Amino acid sequence: MHSQNPIFIPGPTNMPENLRRAVDMPTLDHRSSEFVNILHPALSGVKQVLKTTAGEVFLFPSTGSGGWETALSNTLSKGDKVLAARNGMFSQKWIDMCERHGLEVVVVEVNWGGGIPADRFEEILTADTAHEIKAVLATHNETATGVISDIAAVRAAMNAAGHPALLFVDGVSSIGSMDFRMDEWGVDVAVTGSQKGFMLPAGLAITAFSPKALAAVETATLPRWYFDIRDMQSGYKINGYPYTPQVGMINGLKTASEMLLREGLENVFARHERIATGVRKAIAAWNMPLCAESPELYSNSVSAIMTPDGFDANKIVTLASEKYQTAFGAGLGAVAGKLFRIGHLGSLTDVMTLSGLATAEMCMKDLGLEITLGAGVAAAQEHYRTTA
Ligand SMILES: *Cc1c(COP(=O)(O)O)cnc(C)c1O
Repeated sequence: MHSQNPIFIPGPTNMPENLRRAVDMPTLDHRSSEFVNILHPALSGVKQVLKTTAGEVFLFPSTGSGGWETALSNTLSKGDKVLAARNGMFSQKWIDMCERHGLEVVVVEVNWGGGIPADRFEEILTADTAHEIKAVLATHNETATGVISDIAAVRAAMNAAGHPALLFVDGVSSIGSMDFRMDEWGVDVAVTGSQKGFMLPAGLAITAFSPKALAAVETATLPRWYFDIRDMQSGYKINGYPYTPQVGMINGLKTASEMLLREGLENVFARHERIATGVRKAIAAWNMPLCAESPELYSNSVSAIMTPDGFDANKIVTLASEKYQTAFGAGLGAVAGKLFRIGHLGSLTDVMTLSGLATAEMCMKDLGLEITLGAGVAAAQEHYRTTA
């Protein structure tokens, strides 16, 4: 990779210079008031980004995956049933984590390219009259396939079934780039990481618990220690941490939330939508289908592009890396070799995006795909030129 080239993987994302500086801090005593002045604004900034007033935010030195474990281990007990859809690599990994924790997962299989089937969830929850299902897991944006699911519809399905299960949402690749409404959607645990919409290095698991999820912590018996939110909660109350926090990362999170809120969340979402639309116009000009099955599933943070049958899509990723020092995302799991991904979340401009599209075209042409150089770029240029 060339350090001056933007990165086009869907996380970690490009880091704006001011966030790199915010993370780079001298050693500071985390029991001092100086730390308190970083921690509390970071927590309240995240609450605003999540659109929650009722929720409580907990930050762990970890990544999004640690956020998944925080959600499960704090609220559930061995043998509990949970409901989840498997529609890509990330939902699959969270299901795997549940199974390794001794939970019983009711899995709804979905085509990779499809979204969460809220109607199926409603049927299953309605049939669960004994309320054995304790939690519903939803991957808001399936990063492996570029599919956004409708969380409001999942909540509506749970309400229609009159089901009291908790709702856990993986918003790792949506929060900070696509609309997320923790309180309005009745999300009980929201999970993200620092290296996607927050444009920081990897290293923080960012979670938020609703009052209902906080209550579940008291009766849940899955083993937990490092991720026990009660220790984190009592730490915060005395302006501290149960162990050594990454002060620089938390300062980065404070600065990143300030940046997002200063731009205005709705403007941030509109910017992602606009950049993503340009990318999709380029992909259409290449005559290549998206993995996402229909327009309402199109993600504004990542596009997964299906390459022709018999072609190994990984070759695009390898060539981009080796010849052009540029990173695209590879296909994961069941779609490995069948697609490549262009990440378009976080800190990205029209100009940066056009360079990525031009590079993807060079790679595809080099590899013998039927591509007219500039065709996708021109389609994106037209979109950016007329909407800027
Ligand atoms: C990146 C990602 C994860 C994993 O997060 P890590 O920070 O790599 O642990 C989980 N879910 C989704 C949807 C992601 O995009």
